[in-house]
Amino acid sequence: MDNTRRRFLKIAGLTVLGLGTKPVADAIAQSEKEKYLYSPEVKSGKRWAMVVDYKKCVTAGEQCVECVKACHEVHNVPDFGNPKDEVKWIWKEPFEHAFPTDANHYIEEYVKVTAKGQKFMVLCNHCENAVCVRVCPVKATFRRPDGIVIMDYHRCIGCRYCMAACPYGARSLNWRDPRPFIKKENPEFPTRIRGVVEKCNFCAERLAVGHMPACVDACKKHKALVFGDLEDPNSEIRDMLRKYPTILRRPELGTRPQVYYIV
Ligand code: SF4
Repeated sequence: MDNTRRRFLKIAGLTVLGLGTKPVADAIAQSEKEKYLYSPEVKSGKRWAMVVDYKKCVTAGEQCVECVKACHEVHNVPDFGNPKDEVKWIWKEPFEHAFPTDANHYIEEYVKVTAKGQKFMVLCNHCENAVCVRVCPVKATFRRPDGIVIMDYHRCIGCRYCMAACPYGARSLNWRDPRPFIKKENPEFPTRIRGVVEKCNFCAERLAVGHMPACVDACKKHKALVFGDLEDPNSEIRDMLRKYPTILRRPELGTRPQVYYIV
């Protein structure tokens, strides 16, 4: 008997025995957990990180927003149509806003000159020392052992401490009910409600079924985004970090971002 069938019979048996909906829900949750933990397709990593190749991103052109579209579509990110209510997981930022401090003082002069005003991709940095995690009073956001800083939307009380703490503006609050503003709902990812904070999750749900993050897949043509496991010395990301010097966003804050920028 295969595992799926065995799980189904176990859950059905619990129902017949009249144990109520709670144990059934627990059993389903357990079966989901087993699927994610033990499925052979799962992409497992010990320390996920991303590299953004600044030059490739800029070469793709300011109009290129394929990664944004892909990310926001798969994650049911609403489009309220105005900057005041904007919810964003990945977005374009001018170089001097993304790297505002002098910590990057010694990057090549030509980068500073050519990069001025150029927009390129920024997202949650999945910081090793994530201040957002430390300030959340209800543990609605936490860092997984593989480095992904993730949200439990059901726990979020909308206090916005995490938004105030994040120095990168990586979190957005749904000031209004987002559901009517989702262009095409993806039934495989949860929608949020008014008063809930959200942000990039490094596509944890896609890694769990063997896919790369949606933004990375969408950028295959330009190859400006590379994602991988820093603990794997043979990974593409480690190769890139060996070959090219990189900078981080606001390293002086000690948050230890896990999104690296090749300039
Ligand atoms: Fe938290 Fe902001 Fe760091 Fe993301 S970038 S982990 S939201 S502090």
